[in-house]
Amino acid sequence: MNKRLLRSLLSLMVCMAMLLSLAPAALAESANAPSTEMAVGAVIHGFEVVENGEFALLNAKTTVLRHQKTGATVFFLINEDTNRAFDISFVTPLSDDKGIPHVFEHSTLDGSKKYPSASLFFNLIYQTYNTYMNAATYQVMTTYPVASLSEAQLLKYADFYLDSCFNPMIYEDESLFRSEAWRYSLESADSPLTISGTVYSEMQGAASLETSASYNAMKAAFPGSHMGYNQGGEPTEIPSMTWQEVKDYHTAYYHPSNSLTTVYGAIDDPAAFLALLDEAFSPYEAKTFDFSTPDYTPVTSPVEKVCQYPVYEGTETENAAVTYITFICENATEEEQNVLDLLTMLLSDSSSALVSNLVDALPNADISVYLETDGPEPAVVFVATGMNEGDVQTLRECIYASVLEFAENGVSQNILDAIASSLTMETALMSEESDLGVNMAQNIAYCWATTGDVHAYEKSIANMDNFEKYQTEGKYAEVAKKYLTEDNQRVITVTTVPAPGQQEAIEADLAAKLAETKAAMSAEEIDQLVADTAALASGSMEDTSELVAQLQAVTVDNLPEEIRTYDYTDVTDASGIRRIDVTADVDGIGQTYILLDAAAIPQEDIHWLNLYLNLIGSLDTTEHSSADVYALQSRYLYDGAVKLAVLNTDDAQGFRPYIRASWKATDADMAASYALLNELLFESEFTDTALIASNIALFRQTMKQSYEQEIYMTQLYRAVSQSDVGFNFYTYATGVDYYHFLSDAQALLESDPEAFAAKMKHIQALLHNGANAVIGFAGNAASIENNRAAADSFLASLPMAEVAPQTYDLPVPASAEGIVINSTVNFNLVYATFEQMGVEGGFSGAMDAMCSLVSDGLLYPLLRDQYGAYGVFHGADEDGMYIISYRDPNVAQTFTVYNYVPMLLQQLQMSLDQETLDGYILSSYSYYALSSGELTGALSVITDVVNGDDPFRRLQWMHELKQLKVEDIMAFAPMYQALLDNGCMSTAGSQSALNTMPAGTYENIIKP
Ligand SMILES: [Zn+2]
Repeated sequence: MNKRLLRSLLSLMVCMAMLLSLAPAALAESANAPSTEMAVGAVIHGFEVVENGEFALLNAKTTVLRHQKTGATVFFLINEDTNRAFDISFVTPLSDDKGIPHVFEHSTLDGSKKYPSASLFFNLIYQTYNTYMNAATYQVMTTYPVASLSEAQLLKYADFYLDSCFNPMIYEDESLFRSEAWRYSLESADSPLTISGTVYSEMQGAASLETSASYNAMKAAFPGSHMGYNQGGEPTEIPSMTWQEVKDYHTAYYHPSNSLTTVYGAIDDPAAFLALLDEAFSPYEAKTFDFSTPDYTPVTSPVEKVCQYPVYEGTETENAAVTYITFICENATEEEQNVLDLLTMLLSDSSSALVSNLVDALPNADISVYLETDGPEPAVVFVATGMNEGDVQTLRECIYASVLEFAENGVSQNILDAIASSLTMETALMSEESDLGVNMAQNIAYCWATTGDVHAYEKSIANMDNFEKYQTEGKYAEVAKKYLTEDNQRVITVTTVPAPGQQEAIEADLAAKLAETKAAMSAEEIDQLVADTAALASGSMEDTSELVAQLQAVTVDNLPEEIRTYDYTDVTDASGIRRIDVTADVDGIGQTYILLDAAAIPQEDIHWLNLYLNLIGSLDTTEHSSADVYALQSRYLYDGAVKLAVLNTDDAQGFRPYIRASWKATDADMAASYALLNELLFESEFTDTALIASNIALFRQTMKQSYEQEIYMTQLYRAVSQSDVGFNFYTYATGVDYYHFLSDAQALLESDPEAFAAKMKHIQALLHNGANAVIGFAGNAASIENNRAAADSFLASLPMAEVAPQTYDLPVPASAEGIVINSTVNFNLVYATFEQMGVEGGFSGAMDAMCSLVSDGLLYPLLRDQYGAYGVFHGADEDGMYIISYRDPNVAQTFTVYNYVPMLLQQLQMSLDQETLDGYILSSYSYYALSSGELTGALSVITDVVNGDDPFRRLQWMHELKQLKVEDIMAFAPMYQALLDNGCMSTAGSQSALNTMPAGTYENIIKP
């Protein structure tokens, strides 16, 4: 289920995502020349063609145009990708922590002169033919990307986005500001005054020690500049923002002269986009923008600082601090910055001396390094997590020593080979990336926003070719000695530590302030606020059907029912080895997928098995050091993973555990890649206690962060586990129980390292068996043959011993569960299987459109617009159906909304026409119609075949989806009723949030 689930989760508004550091990899086929000739010097709809070129990585012909009146830049990247994208971005500097650009980003999509509706944006996501619709605020820019499989549809979105950006309704309508930013709410005259708002909730959920540490560090490194402000808004600062500030911000920065527009993909008619852009830009006069930072006061001597981050009483504080050490690289030239960019990548690499020295010095810490170029001066930033306040000096010494070591020895040929090979694979596999146009447009825009150069991103990619050259020329040593030694006085060290109890103090303080505000209100003001709050809560649903129809370029009737199908063979030989080969249209490269039987693992060893799989690849083997092991993996196991897998079976137990290994490799490397897998799996050593301890600390840290930021995934896994025994095995092996087990494992490692190693060796011996193996492969005919030989020799090296499957009696999560996390917002889930919902025949494609309808028509208007939750996930897959509120200020209210869904669905159906329903079908359909990349599609055929699913059942879902009629809708009401009556529920939030529910609501409360 994971894939579909993730798809629907990821399609949620993910504002504020960090920029991809390195773009994904190249389109397989060469692009056609654009059909409209855009010769340099030509003028098309007020735009002059400035230059033509190529972006080889994307197999794209590029054209840069300048708007004659305003100077606005437009960048076309035309290739054969049918997942076309449009993006407009603005440089949006920061001067405080209120989150003004972020509120503006939300408000932009709250209606415009041509499209005056606050709910239209979400309606379009759910009701039109898009593969991506969103907006995001970054440290230096705000960006508005959208993608569609239809060029005509993309053109309509471009019109919608442009009018939204330049003529937003927020100028006239203060309520938009109140709903997005913040407002007072009052349920009744007696209830306490509270603050709500979409961005306010979103940023409470986004807050974490890690992000706060980065802002603290940048504020200290670049005092007085725009650096270090939270572009999303600090929850404590958001309520000081005014409507006027937001309007002024728009007037200042949303100007064509301060914009970059990117159009990407198989575009037949670029002129149509230029005509639209000209219409949007022409009302403006050219304007010059100055983004220098006059108030910047450069640091001239070393700075050391400790900042506190508020958490709840009882939060674990050991190894929970984050330290930033920033080296200002004064007057670094462009070339030096290019060298520093690659140097920091080498230092961050798991095989670097810095990483291994840190393991010895501070086993609980983890380090990364990057070049920061967003600020007034370039700087190299070292970030260490898993720290304590007292570790800072050790960290600094370790950095100085390691940089010196690096300067003297340089980087090994092994690592240079590994990097070269990774880059080649990335380029060859570029077309496998999802949302390529959208990601590229944002990368290009980000680099443009910091440099003013539309080619800055291409240049940073081109710089990747210099890894070896800089080494040969001694450049790494040169810049390391110049900027990263104790001679550099401009070093800023900032440690952010958790401060337990401070969160309670902040909340008490806010409550007191709100009580004071309320006390100062007159009786009339209180009555008015109660009435306003109630009015918002009963809110009227806007009818946007005409606007949606106006913006639809594709109809259900003309959707093609076709998907990429693959030829495959599935043969099990007399010895029990199963081979699945999928023929894919690629050249000289292949995707492997191997399962080794793990059914012999006894119950008490399940967590040890998972720990074993997590550790291998980070440790020494009998043949190589851990640093070499890292480099070899980059070299031979591209996109590689060795993980636990569980397949459902027809026997009494219902499932069987396996070890799954998958990676991509060229034909030439295939034999070597199997040999490396063999070495990792069966020749890893468990004697380096410091290295193992450091890895376990990192696993715990990563899991803890995911509990704070993505707890909904844990909730969903635990929900599905109640009805699916195989899933429950997986959740038990890898989830919260495993997280707790890691402390025990760490304790054993410390007290008795030999016993720990013996345990690992025992797991290794259990797994060392080729019986019942499944060998899956995707590639062309020659690659399949090549893989067969490599796989056969891998299997021949393994013993073939009969496997005695164990039986398991594992704990199952409670059907009503509370999960205590360190968060000021909540996540509320309901989930049921189709069996529990009484749906015979299980999942059908029509349910995708149903979920879109319910999300868009009921859940978003109620939970987000009225009750201030940031978002909601609602979806169905082959196992069941879920609703999860996301960054939600409420608990009880949200479950009340869920309970109204069946009744509200009845009302919704009465006003629904087929045209509107077709919109929901279109948006769901675009997911199925989107091609996934040749190897990615082939890999999903393998996983479907091993899971016993029809790999081409998607076609059936597409058909079912297109057949959905308005009169069918009410048949789903009992399903929703049963979801609520028979399914399970959970809440993740702070203990005090869980306490707001009646006693006994949760059968069990856990604390990860
Ligand atoms: Zn947002």
